[in-house]
Amino acid sequence: MAPDDTLKMIPLRVVGADRPGLWPRLSSIIERFFVRYKDALVWVHAVMFLVFLTVIFLPLFLPEPAENATALDDFSRFANFAMWGLWFPLVFFSVIFSGRSWCGLLCPMGAASEWANKVGLQRAIPDWVHWEGTPIVSFLIITILGQTVGVRDHPEAVAEVFGGTMLAAIVLGFVYGKKKRAWCRHMCPIGLLLGVFSRIGAVQFTAKRPKSGNDRFTEKTICPMMIDIPRKQESRHCIECFRCVHPEAKSGLFLQLRSPGREIENIRQHNPNRYEVWFLFLATGVALGGFLWLVLPQYQLIRAAVGEWFINGGHYWIGDSGPTWLMSVHPERREVFNWLDFFTIVGFMSATMIIMTAVLAFSTWMAAWLAGKAGADLSLKDRFTELGYQYTPVAMVSLIIGLGATLFQPLSAFNEDLPRLLKLALFCAGIIWSLWLGDRILKNQGVFPGRRSLPLLPGVLGSLMVGLAWWPGIFGM
Ligand code: SF4
Ligand code: SF4
Repeated sequence: MAPDDTLKMIPLRVVGADRPGLWPRLSSIIERFFVRYKDALVWVHAVMFLVFLTVIFLPLFLPEPAENATALDDFSRFANFAMWGLWFPLVFFSVIFSGRSWCGLLCPMGAASEWANKVGLQRAIPDWVHWEGTPIVSFLIITILGQTVGVRDHPEAVAEVFGGTMLAAIVLGFVYGKKKRAWCRHMCPIGLLLGVFSRIGAVQFTAKRPKSGNDRFTEKTICPMMIDIPRKQESRHCIECFRCVHPEAKSGLFLQLRSPGREIENIRQHNPNRYEVWFLFLATGVALGGFLWLVLPQYQLIRAAVGEWFINGGHYWIGDSGPTWLMSVHPERREVFNWLDFFTIVGFMSATMIIMTAVLAFSTWMAAWLAGKAGADLSLKDRFTELGYQYTPVAMVSLIIGLGATLFQPLSAFNEDLPRLLKLALFCAGIIWSLWLGDRILKNQGVFPGRRSLPLLPGVLGSLMVGLAWWPGIFGM
């Protein structure tokens, strides 16, 4: 019996600690706590909204920090550290333990979008918003724009990227959906990332009276994320708002704790989705490109060659700066990008993304093909989708280490090598975890233990390739 078959045997009335999953008593206590105080979340969101506005906008009005200013004596430096050293890596890390709790319990953007929706036009959500590729496109645009405007270094860029995202969330919420979070379900670039990674999280909301059929999108539900509650199987859209959780009721959902990675091990029972898999590949590649252009000498060679080609052709405008909303123009901080920088950064990041996506897709295809030869069930396409999820830990560790590098910097005060060693340990853990998930997915595809080594090999090689590609960006040349 597959572990998740236990879901079919859930008692109709789940009250207190007699529930399936890990540590039932603890999950019952957590559930009761959040159900009891869920109305107070509005105040938490209001405070978070003010903190968000302060962190992203106040540095714009403060004097330029001194060269030697630190997060302890300068607010702009503190805001930058809070954003990239704490919020970014810790939110992603928290997904392993608590799924999308950031979204439901703390995020001011999602809450603002929902507030706007209550007083807004409440129009039907159009198809272009529904399209599953929309959050992928929004993630890619935001990530690349973040690099060209220098979002990790300049408060103006932070205000543009995060303020713009907040504005888009509010406008979309104001126009579309009825008592829903259309932005969070369909468009938020952060939500998509957290959603994919929440599948390895230790928290699951499970239906007390599950209905047959896969997860469905529906607007006729109390769920702000438009989840068809009795058919809910996947974690990715659930923001853990506890609105559908009533411990004494016979229907709705209940909180279940599970070992991290369990949903991906049994991904076929949790609505696998090929868009998510392609997103994992693309996100890993684009984040990698965002780092490598900063450290690789080859990037400078490419930039020089492209610049020479334009100048030889008489296109001197390539040396001019463009609009400040598109590229970093900060002479006061000795950073002024021109169109050459803009095109080479965008081109380099896009090329890295395409190459990394090709590597991961090819290795997954090889794994799926070899799994078929070893006796796996399903079609090649479905095996590909399932096996693509094995890269989730490696992709997550890449993003935490790469984009949240600021978190590790203060550790060098204890020992110069500590940040590097910690990052290396995290990477190794990610690779081993990915390998484990690959093995479990193959088991569920019906491949016997003695025949799994060959289909596992492409996954190992793919993970090592990701590790190798991050090497100069994280550990130095
Ligand atoms: S989906 Fe995005 S905007 Fe919505 S709650 Fe999550 S992070 Fe915030
Ligand atoms: S399924 Fe329940 S807990 Fe999850 S987002 Fe919907 S209403 Fe909130």
